[in-house]
Amino acid sequence: WKHAPATFRALLENSAFHGDKEFVVYEDERLTYTEHFRLAATLAHRLADSFGVRKGDRVAIAMRNYPEWIVAFSATLAIGAVAVPLNAWWTRKELEYGLSDSGATLLIADGERATTLAGIDIPMIVNRSSGSLGADWQEVLGEISPDVVLPPADIHPEDPATIFYTSGTTGHPKGALGSHRNLGQAPMSVVYAMTRGVALTGRDPGESLKRRRITLLTVPLFHATGCFAVLLTTMFSGNGLILMYKWDAESALRLIEREKITGLSGVPTNAWQLLSHPALGSYDISTLSGVSYGGAPAPPKLLERLTELLPGRTPSNGYGMTETTALAIYNSGQSYQDRPGSIGIPLAVVDVKVCDLSGAELPRGQVGELCLRGPIVIMGYWNRPDATAETIVGGWLHTGDLARVDDEGFVYIVDRAKDMVIRGGENVYCAEVEAALFDHPAIDDAAVIGIPDDELGEQVGAIVKLRSPATQEELQAFLKETLAPFKIPVRIWFHESDLPRNPGGKILKTHLRREVLGG
Ligand code: ATP
Ligand code: MG
Repeated sequence: WKHAPATFRALLENSAFHGDKEFVVYEDERLTYTEHFRLAATLAHRLADSFGVRKGDRVAIAMRNYPEWIVAFSATLAIGAVAVPLNAWWTRKELEYGLSDSGATLLIADGERATTLAGIDIPMIVNRSSGSLGADWQEVLGEISPDVVLPPADIHPEDPATIFYTSGTTGHPKGALGSHRNLGQAPMSVVYAMTRGVALTGRDPGESLKRRRITLLTVPLFHATGCFAVLLTTMFSGNGLILMYKWDAESALRLIEREKITGLSGVPTNAWQLLSHPALGSYDISTLSGVSYGGAPAPPKLLERLTELLPGRTPSNGYGMTETTALAIYNSGQSYQDRPGSIGIPLAVVDVKVCDLSGAELPRGQVGELCLRGPIVIMGYWNRPDATAETIVGGWLHTGDLARVDDEGFVYIVDRAKDMVIRGGENVYCAEVEAALFDHPAIDDAAVIGIPDDELGEQVGAIVKLRSPATQEELQAFLKETLAPFKIPVRIWFHESDLPRNPGGKILKTHLRREVLGG
């Protein structure tokens, strides 16, 4: 019997019905749903027959956003093996960690990753490479039969499907183990949320669902947002996905015009850079109807500028984690315009509560740790029973984010529990000071950190990148209008180049701290 659509295999088989519709575009390569299904089914046979991959085995994928990433992912999951996407920005040492931590028995890599890992003792299938670093992707696939079907497999909703590594913003990346049920639920939740977003904008959700969506993926597939919120949703609904090797605002503008892109999905920085690009007016981006972002705090100023520079589009802000199979809370349409500082209300399948440090639920309106429950919460951390027991308590996922919920159920992220500056016993939320800085027209990017201080324990400091000249005194005076004196950075560093961010759009504060404070 089938657990449709609660297994990825069911999602994949269903996607084949979208036939000749275009699924994935990368530069001048175009793949229809039928072509993707045939490639994935063929690779699934090869994985099982030539490489001995069995149900539960881990298959690592280390690639940029190439169409083969998607084929490798589909093939692995279709036979019940567990896909382990590795961060393509990782160094050899980090990639080795991912391979050994997951216990992967096979690696599917692009030429660059295979070169980085040359000589490693694990079978490799390599695409986009002229060398002989492993088994050649094309040779492995061989003939593609138009009649190919998936090899038999017995997969249940509670079987493990994926190990995605968290971004490593607060420590070492942890392997989040997702089930087939998590994956089956994720795209449905996104469609619910989108429909609600459309309704909240005053448009007809039915009309909107009928339109073909072409989404530009601006974030990596190896992170939860790219794979679960964007790729799976596209596949689920038979829409189109445009891939980029690397995010770049001008290429994005060119692609929006060329491919008639209707939606942009990524991190807030992507939207910010697109708006700030001097060539914004030179491209026809009239097809773009939605801009959604998440994964990192979105300063309210971003919504304001989006609304001003791209009128008539629907911006939306989604909150999610690797541990929630991407999207969990969503704000869009009029409700986002009315509450630009909120991440919105939980998806239909998600419950939320706010707790104190002991795990006791706090009354509405108070700030505490945000906890989530629902079928999108992962099974746990791979091989880390302690971390799992600490994070998922009685079905509730403890997010490590500080939040409050208002009377209408709108959630506001206050900060990460670990991203707070404690100044003489007074909590200063970095995200609040950053958002206030973004309100100043000269600010292009900003990060707030704690500076060790003998007397107060910590003082507030900021590192900013300017778009036009400003002085420390000017910025401090500007902040004084909106922030209490103890929150004003006592020292502001000016950064010439872009602030370092990981592919998830989060500022690498550890790097910055080291840069400005040494040590
Ligand atoms: P690690 O867990 O390894 O430290 P990480 O938490 O950055 O890394 P992810 O799972 O990629 O790894 O990111 C989830 C986090 O991103 C959330 O816990 C939250 O802090 C932040 N986040 C996601 N979406 C939003 C949003 N819309 N607004 C504010 N913060 C967000
Ligand atoms: Mg985290």
